Amino acid sequence: MKLPLTGGCLCGALRYEISEAPSTTYTCHCTDCQHLTSSAFSLAITVPDGAFRLTKGEPRLVQKIADSGRVVTRWVCSECGCWLTSSPQPGARPGAMIRRVRGGTLDDNSWLKPTAHFWTRSKQPWVVLPEGAEVFATQPDLDEFFESNRSR
Ligand SMILES: [Zn+2]
Ligand SMILES: [Zn+2]
Repeated sequence: MKLPLTGGCLCGALRYEISEAPSTTYTCHCTDCQHLTSSAFSLAITVPDGAFRLTKGEPRLVQKIADSGRVVTRWVCSECGCWLTSSPQPGARPGAMIRRVRGGTLDDNSWLKPTAHFWTRSKQPWVVLPEGAEVFATQPDLDEFFESNRSR
């Protein structure tokens, strides 16, 4: 992995840069992610919000109440509809904001290796999770989870 990480939407109207190494790579098997990705799960990295910067374009903000009950605001390209990231959420430490970025939108996603798996109660039965992975039937308290991963 080489910093800064760069990525963008499918059509190139939105571009971003990430200046710090991600603290976590995880998959989410919730039914919303299955619907949104038209796949079995979504793949994301988490970074401190201050390390994320849009370098091109203006996203369209789309709100939805997630399975967890939180309002999640997705940043999507108004041209190609690609989902890049979600609005930052508060971290466990005062003032700390965490941003989740969709793994597949990175220019180089070859190094991505998820170590945690959320919402596995709705996982497709043919998806086999690697041994030693952190597995959650729903999801842990995300603020605490990301914070504990960060300090590892
Ligand atoms: Zn686009
Ligand atoms: Zn999900």
